[in-house]
Amino acid sequence: MSKNLQKVQDMLDGNYKNKIQSGYEKVDKHREVGEKWVDSDGVPWEQREGYKLKGRLATSNDVHDSWEKKCTSCEKLILKPWDKDTFKGDGRCYHCQLNYELDLKFDAPIRWFAYRRLKDLINMEAIEKDMIQWIDEMTEQRKKNPFDEKVANALANGEVEMTIKKNMQ
Ligand SMILES: [Zn+2]
Repeated sequence: MSKNLQKVQDMLDGNYKNKIQSGYEKVDKHREVGEKWVDSDGVPWEQREGYKLKGRLATSNDVHDSWEKKCTSCEKLILKPWDKDTFKGDGRCYHCQLNYELDLKFDAPIRWFAYRRLKDLINMEAIEKDMIQWIDEMTEQRKKNPFDEKVANALANGEVEMTIKKNMQ
């Protein structure tokens, strides 16, 4: 990539000024495609074909906003926030996603249901967050009320005993 193009890319990334101010991460340092590194600010980077990904993007499979995102249905560039929103999940612009979901809804209600379910399951980040919150809440609960734990242990032990008895019969 030429230096000028790299500068344009850096400006699009919003980190050009940063580099001038602080001077880490030499602009022309050669990186292999797919190479990942962390700069002196602790920000992860990843070298892609012709550009660099910064921060959270560097660790995900998302493509760069301004370079590669095109609706898979109408091939429109994904630039608007509402298009980005639907594109993230399904690779379609908002308009195509809306049409797609409407088609599913009217043509095949069961497929529609399965599709929504699948989308929920794919959204692992949200699920993980819920899990962490749930565990935190349980931990807090136990701190506040250790008696719960005694009951839980007693129940667990009782269950073990019952299982052993059952197996011996
Ligand atoms: Zn589209």
